[in-house]
Amino acid sequence: MKILLNNQTLNRKLRHFDDIGFVPTMGGIHEGHISLIKRSNKICKKTIVSIFVNPKQFNNKKDFKTYPSNIKKDLSILNKIKKIDCIYIPKFKHIYSSKKKSKIRISKKDKILCAKSRKGHFEGVLDVMDRLTNLIKPKKIFMGKKDFQQLFLVKGFIEKKYKTKVIGCKTIRDKNKIALSSRNYLLNKDNLNIAGKISKNLFQLKIKIRNKKKISQFLLEEKKRLQKTFNIKIDYMELRNTKNLKISNNSIGSKIFISYYLNNIRLIDNF
Ligand code: AMP
Repeated sequence: MKILLNNQTLNRKLRHFDDIGFVPTMGGIHEGHISLIKRSNKICKKTIVSIFVNPKQFNNKKDFKTYPSNIKKDLSILNKIKKIDCIYIPKFKHIYSSKKKSKIRISKKDKILCAKSRKGHFEGVLDVMDRLTNLIKPKKIFMGKKDFQQLFLVKGFIEKKYKTKVIGCKTIRDKNKIALSSRNYLLNKDNLNIAGKISKNLFQLKIKIRNKKKISQFLLEEKKRLQKTFNIKIDYMELRNTKNLKISNNSIGSKIFISYYLNNIRLIDNF
């Protein structure tokens, strides 16, 4: 496993690579990330993992400052995975040295869910993914369905501009059904306990809405109930079609998307 700290060493390495599988991360490595790496190992000859906490995708300075990153710990976890060929750990200047020709914009119809509450977030995600794809030129990029809207927007953007395919991979959960996330490192035991209960509630909710007629109305009432029961603030809780992310009134082909604050930490998931 080669650690690459700048673009010269990256380019030198890339000369000998083809059929690259790329797993972009912001560190705080957990089993969710590892599942993406394993998927890449299975279908690509080479696997590159990046660790870069991209400041441009944080709409909140405090969120950026407190983002759980620990390179030493990450490397010790990744070291145990045999088939990672390189880990690219760039600095800000390595990613953002070149000026963009045109500003990345999210269309009006896509300003939903997280794009509505986190202004500039996905513009920052698409910018960094554009730059990383241009640098690494992977055949495939592996991303988690846990961040479904991110996957949806990145896939649309990257596959239009490059030959690269973006592959969505299933959400990895712990034994309490909590979706693994680097942000979980910021939660205490009580918070994690509540997060587990919320996940279980949402899995049940997905079953309950199967034979409901007025799903939006029902979800609104359930949103109020969950806020009260668990003393949380829910940013959104909506049923949307997984193909186009439009509001849906049919549980088939749709998912419940949720974002909520627990201990001031913003969590997202989909069921
Ligand atoms: P992050 O480091 O949070 O930016 O995530 C890097 C990649 O890992 C993204 O494509 C995420 O969607 C994916 N990911 C994060 N959590 C999970 C999870 N629990 N299961 C599967 N993939 C995940």
